[in-house]
Amino acid sequence: DVPLVEADPEVAAAIGAELHRQQSTLEMIASENFAPVSVMRAQGSVLTNKYAEGYPGRRYYGGCENVDVIETLAIERVKALFGAEAANVQPHSGAQANAAAMAALLEPGDTILGLDLAHGGHLTHGMRINFSGRLYKVVAYHVRESDNLVDMDEVERLAREHRPKMIIAGWSAYPRHLDFAAFRRIADEVGAYLMVDMAHFAGLVAAGLHPSPVPHAHIVTTTTHKTLGGPRGGVILSTGDLAKKINSSVFPGQQGGPLEHVIAAKAVAFKIAASDWFADRQRRTLEGARILADRLLEPDTAAAGVRVLSGGTDVHLVLVDLRESELDGRQAEDRLHAAGITVNRNAVPFDPRPPMVTSGLRIGTPALATRGFQAADFAEVSDVIAAALTGDGSDASIAHLRGRVEALAAKHPLYAAENGS
Ligand code: PLP
Repeated sequence: DVPLVEADPEVAAAIGAELHRQQSTLEMIASENFAPVSVMRAQGSVLTNKYAEGYPGRRYYGGCENVDVIETLAIERVKALFGAEAANVQPHSGAQANAAAMAALLEPGDTILGLDLAHGGHLTHGMRINFSGRLYKVVAYHVRESDNLVDMDEVERLAREHRPKMIIAGWSAYPRHLDFAAFRRIADEVGAYLMVDMAHFAGLVAAGLHPSPVPHAHIVTTTTHKTLGGPRGGVILSTGDLAKKINSSVFPGQQGGPLEHVIAAKAVAFKIAASDWFADRQRRTLEGARILADRLLEPDTAAAGVRVLSGGTDVHLVLVDLRESELDGRQAEDRLHAAGITVNRNAVPFDPRPPMVTSGLRIGTPALATRGFQAADFAEVSDVIAAALTGDGSDASIAHLRGRVEALAAKHPLYAAENGS
């Protein structure tokens, strides 16, 4: 068998370059993480060869005895991790988990109530040209302009007025906890299902560092690659009575053959997520985000028009509000990129700038916590970010910051034994 570097030198070179990029820069995109080598090995295994339509013990293909073991391990582990009655581990992604969960409980034309994309919601929560916006009638709730927190009075008012069949709680860019019990009370009052999309904060929930939506929601969806730190993929948790509907909505409703190599990697990730190391990593993730928020709230940074949405964070990310700053979101993203820190620009609620420019940054700490960052390292990277956002942006100042970033990267080696092929 021919090694990758011989079979395809171009792809091998690009993978090698990506490994170097991940090793030499600081990854602060809030939805990203570094999967452990054990997870990547499971994902890159012979399981990629196997067709296994159906579910453990009920497959439409022969030879499924080993993948049955693996998929059962993944199901049982994720149920135990989150205390859920039922789990489907087959969704290929978070978007497909949401599509299948909605298709299980809704008919086209039914009404859904979700957080507005521009206020931190996800595409699949009702964006106009996403499947969710095309298939369902969408009503959006918002954050309040005064404090940037989800307006539960508005959620209640809209639920009573529009009688949605499903209320979606969850976000891609929001720095605080949601009140799952209040969402459930409103859902019950109008006869709606409550679906919580915990894609972003699932790792914090697994570590017991964030309130769990599982006791409150009919359905909880998640990705497995954000704070949870596993392979790219999705999962649907539910109450036992909905399990059958959800299973048939995933297969044959939305998907064909499950990706058993990814499911094996999910099983490994769920095992790791029950460990003390994982809990400590989530603790450092939260600590790092708080340090970053505190540093950006200091008077010298605030004087440059850099604000922290909602005045802090309860989770793994900080939303930086640049509406009062000379820098827009794109310029700020570019400046941090030049210094060796990867973040994404993000619209803030009530953003006056266009979506390709934006007035905000979303900065997350999960990947650096996985890399081993401690409080002092987070303080140093926070100071670099503050300096980049408030400085003159000259080549010399950025080169100096880049040196500090490289020192942090060197202090916390990543994938040291990997060669990229
Ligand atoms: N749900 C939320 C809240 C997300 O933030 C995301 C990803 O950004 C998804 C779902 C979709 O996940 P995927 O990119 O795996 O489709």
